[in-house]
Amino acid sequence: MCGIFGVHGAQDAAGLVHLGLYSLQHRGQESAGIVAVDADGVARAKRRMGLVSEGLNVLDELAGTLAIGHTRYSTAGSSSIDNAHPVLVRFRGGYIALAHNGNIVNASELRRELEDEGSIFSSTMDSEVLVHRMARSKAERPDDQLAEALQGVEGAFSLVVASGNTLMAARDPRGWRPLVIGRLGGAVVFASETCALDIVGAAHVRDVQPGEIVIVDADGLRCRQALAPRDSRRCVFEYVYFARPDSRIFDGGSVDRARRALGRQLGRECPAPGADLVFGVPDSANAAALGYAEETGLPLELALIRNHYVGRTFIQPSQAGRSHKVKVKYNPVREVLEGKKVVMIDDSIVRGTTTRGLVSLVRAAGAREVHMRIASPPVTGPCYYGIDTPSREELIAANLSVDDIARHIDVDSLGYLSLEGMLAAVPGGPEGFCHACFSGDYPTPPPTDPDKLRFGCGC
Ligand code: AMP
Repeated sequence: MCGIFGVHGAQDAAGLVHLGLYSLQHRGQESAGIVAVDADGVARAKRRMGLVSEGLNVLDELAGTLAIGHTRYSTAGSSSIDNAHPVLVRFRGGYIALAHNGNIVNASELRRELEDEGSIFSSTMDSEVLVHRMARSKAERPDDQLAEALQGVEGAFSLVVASGNTLMAARDPRGWRPLVIGRLGGAVVFASETCALDIVGAAHVRDVQPGEIVIVDADGLRCRQALAPRDSRRCVFEYVYFARPDSRIFDGGSVDRARRALGRQLGRECPAPGADLVFGVPDSANAAALGYAEETGLPLELALIRNHYVGRTFIQPSQAGRSHKVKVKYNPVREVLEGKKVVMIDDSIVRGTTTRGLVSLVRAAGAREVHMRIASPPVTGPCYYGIDTPSREELIAANLSVDDIARHIDVDSLGYLSLEGMLAAVPGGPEGFCHACFSGDYPTPPPTDPDKLRFGCGC
């Protein structure tokens, strides 16, 4: 998964992008990058592995009133500066810079077509296909080039693209990933989530609509419906886990309100009679735990403390397994847990390893009974559209029944939210969401080369 941000028409555009990327750090911690375009149309890039705070503060080298940025999240195997965004290329028309969130499911086919005609690629990212297609367009105007490049592209893409002094934002026709428009004085801002508009002081205008290209240049802002909208497939996992609770996504839906509603629905569907208290796994399940407490009347406690200074990159896969990781990241509060029958809420179980480690910590801190409640249904399939879920073999719910999972993670009871309950609880539901990872209802055929895509995703 990734976060994207773009600014047109502001002094120190790169500085604003830098700030915006801080608020999109949760969408990707593997690498971060900014491209700024100066008044002569010259584009300069800075890309770094790691966090936004870890070396992207080289803004004096990034002059210009147009800039775009990206935070990237992907699997360990693809961790490489070659795959860091934004992509920046030079072609006969000048520079094209592109930042992408989502996965293109037919990237392998599109890439093969281009390679057969002599194209040379410098990364394994699906997104590179898009700049090649733009560069090959015979159209004059950047938005025509982008519209042409996006024809026949299948899957999820929210994009910010700079071509010369034009900034464009585009969203795939199913609207999988969020993308919002903001105004900051005379400047236009695009961001994955509204929390990134807030940090720069931009006012939220609206979403970039599915299939739409929004164009900002010297003549101002224009919109065009470049791709015919298809059945809406907003990613429900954005509400469940991915987006920040202080954001509004998908036509103004509050992520906080969504998670509280998920928690309340979970309380109705899976109460835990006789329990003493409820707590959420911080931070992603806090709002759902609030909702569950509201619904069931159980007191909400803070039973797990998360260390916020442990980044994803700090704990390497080689370090003594995942149970060790859990201990580095979380510590239980004995005074809250000792002798108690507790309800532990999490937003999702993916592999089950973190959950199992957490249950063991909670028991070691003296909890008498542990009742696990999950604010989404069992994850039974991989995501081909940008969420970094592992292959089916690693997904615990694809391989074990709920009772077997309960035994595996060592809880006294386990309850998942139903698919219907989840879709009824999220803003704008129940229709129009992609829930393939929970339901197996994939809106596209699976990618022909999923392994390659996973490691080469534009996320
Ligand atoms: P596990 O028990 O190992 O499956 O981990 C479950 C935890 O991972 C939950 O607390 C989720 O908040 C979190 N989670 C869910 N999806 C993802 C994801 N794509 N990347 C990282 N963490 C995730």
